[in-house]
Amino acid sequence: MGPFTTGIVHPMNISIFDNYKSEWENDEVRVTIPFSVAGVGTTILLTSKFTGKLILFDVGDGVLRDLLSSRKTDFVNDIDPIAVSHGHFDHVGGLHSLFGFMRMMGRTNPLNILIPAGCVEAITIIKGYRDLYRTTLPFKIWYHELSQGSGFDTDFFKVKSVEVEHFSLETDSGTGLLEPALGFRVQVGETIVAYTGDTRLCSGAETVVRDADLAIIEATRKKTPDPDSGHRVHLSVEEANELGKLAKEFILVHKVPEI
Ligand SMILES: [Zn+2]
Repeated sequence: MGPFTTGIVHPMNISIFDNYKSEWENDEVRVTIPFSVAGVGTTILLTSKFTGKLILFDVGDGVLRDLLSSRKTDFVNDIDPIAVSHGHFDHVGGLHSLFGFMRMMGRTNPLNILIPAGCVEAITIIKGYRDLYRTTLPFKIWYHELSQGSGFDTDFFKVKSVEVEHFSLETDSGTGLLEPALGFRVQVGETIVAYTGDTRLCSGAETVVRDADLAIIEATRKKTPDPDSGHRVHLSVEEANELGKLAKEFILVHKVPEI
């Protein structure tokens, strides 16, 4: 979740979000990041060039608009799995809309959602949706609670999860609490694409990105805070740039917009 400190986003400023897109590709995989802004939403799409099959990292608010603005509606049947890094709204809030669109368009393939073990936000949305439309949902939705080192393979994608350290400040006492949070490494052909999710600097974040062909790294904080300044919730741009050196190439995402 992102720290807006400078006020509300005014509609006049929406065009600034155009600065938060990225793309990357090689012979085997195309990575499309139509949107990733801290505290708003994140959508990261990987396409296998062999098969056209898709895997989605995170489903923040606006995911449906992001997908529709970057491709045709083929994603309705071709996305599987969806990997959710953690339960903050800017990473999971678009699930209901995406399910609704898939139901409306008549998806039939089962959909697998990979979530951190104990991610109550994702579980609540998924179970609630299945209950609501139990008799009219044309596809199955399965969720899989992953932890350190868990794997999940489809015919097209091999996913490995790594636990990372991401604090939430949403406790009654105002003290921090570690969220269930994962980074992912996905193999497409011989290519490894890594995604940190939200994390502070920790050994898990290093494990996620090390030797990846492409590492997608959150870089929410503009400055690296004093080590004694309390919980380190996110990576700074400086930390993310250092971390990126462990990978062959990297992209920074999840920045705080300039308002
Ligand atoms: Zn977060």
